[in-house]
Amino acid sequence: MSSYDVIVVGSGPGGYVCAIRCAQLGLKTACVEGRETLGGTCLNVGCIPSKALLHASHSLHEATHNFARMGLKGAAPKVDWQAMLAYKDDVIGQNTKGIEFLFRKNKVDWLKGWASIPAAGQVAIADQVHKAKAVVIATGSDSATIPGVEIDERIVVSSTGALELRKIPGKLLVIGAGVIGLELGSAYNRLGSDVTVIEFLDRIVPGVDGEAAKAFQRILKRQGLRFITGAAVQKVETTKTKAKATYKLRKSGEEAVLEADTVLVATGRRPFTQGLGLDSLGVNVSESGQILTDARYATSVHGIYAIGDCIDGPMLAHKAEDEGMAVAESLAGQAGHVNYGVIPSVIYTHPEVANVGETEESLKDKGRAYKAGKFSFMGNGRAKANFSSDGFVKLLADAETDRILGCHIIGPAAGDLIHEVCVAMEFGAAAEDLARTCHAHPTYSEAVREAALACGDGPIHA
Ligand code: NAD
Repeated sequence: MSSYDVIVVGSGPGGYVCAIRCAQLGLKTACVEGRETLGGTCLNVGCIPSKALLHASHSLHEATHNFARMGLKGAAPKVDWQAMLAYKDDVIGQNTKGIEFLFRKNKVDWLKGWASIPAAGQVAIADQVHKAKAVVIATGSDSATIPGVEIDERIVVSSTGALELRKIPGKLLVIGAGVIGLELGSAYNRLGSDVTVIEFLDRIVPGVDGEAAKAFQRILKRQGLRFITGAAVQKVETTKTKAKATYKLRKSGEEAVLEADTVLVATGRRPFTQGLGLDSLGVNVSESGQILTDARYATSVHGIYAIGDCIDGPMLAHKAEDEGMAVAESLAGQAGHVNYGVIPSVIYTHPEVANVGETEESLKDKGRAYKAGKFSFMGNGRAKANFSSDGFVKLLADAETDRILGCHIIGPAAGDLIHEVCVAMEFGAAAEDLARTCHAHPTYSEAVREAALACGDGPIHA
């Protein structure tokens, strides 16, 4: 039996970051992982591999749509699917090996296997029990499906199966117009699939600012994605090679059937805590299976903490990372802190969609007076040169104090641009602070400044 200050269960972005920070702060730390490689869903079957496919498919789009416009002539590249999957696997390998290196460098022990927690202060892997003063559960989440739809990872796939399809589907049906459905749907659309997205609600990407979501849907439609909104999928039946989905239009009650080669189920994720033994431990969980914690991530059982997708809040890798750092700092006697008001979220399509803070809808709900400064990428020289002028930046600021309350960007590199607004919000900045900050020309970030100017005397290039 080995003894540790901290054992972290799960090596996804929440778990591995927590383990490294614990070790950096002088705590003897181990991290348990049952997969063959470290990094959890994000590195193995989520964020990282999907970004490889998004990048490859976007490169193909550039080659087939924009190269000739720039005077770059020649045969357009053809897709070698097996080679593309090998590139994706190589990217995964580099990243997961990177975490192994960081563990060695920081002296974090990797305990291989699937953990259970027989009692507070103990972590069991098969018949080996390790002792720990603190146990941090960072076991993440798993794909959720809907009644009548069974995932076989062959014809009806979750995001995991969608990242290793045997071939590019002719017809892809995506259930759920959330982040996963649209990222993977648009990647396959660019690779040649005929993509239809069925969404239960009357809009796509719930939670995203309404105006940005509408613009996003228009752009995706122009790219070739088809949307059936306000429709609930009732069932999916499969044969050896095909799927048949029955859905009901919510308003009219009318039923219809769609055939596809592949169905991607992207209807959300649920906390993954199976096998830990939470019930017998007495760890309180919510009805939806989230582990309940206090503000310092302590569960109802002394010495057991939980972070990331298996607790409340947005299921985002960077939210889990921040919680991992915060709990490590608390365990080391410091003041760990996460500002949930400033957690950006990004949809990695082309163009990207990025958000932070309040939306116009949430401000209206709160009855808060605000101003919206908007600037289109049509007025940004760099975006024009790069065929990326679709989209806009919208900055929301308090009507009276000018304090920045939120930002919504749809456009080139939106996922990077959002961070200057995050920093500004962390410092309690006003829109005028951003507007008076010199931004290099020509950059996409000038559009953020112009949106800030639009909260005041007006933008220059609109
Ligand atoms: P989601 O919650 O983002 O979207 C699910 C969508 O499915 C919703 O729009 C919902 O209305 C719809 N839906 C539910 N039931 C349906 C039905 N019966 N018929 C049709 N539509 C239905 O979920 P997701 O896209 O699966 O992603 C899961 C989680 O992973 C999310 O929390 C997401 O934020 C996270 N994630 C984030 C990123 C990123 O940050 N880029 C990438 C991937 C996943």
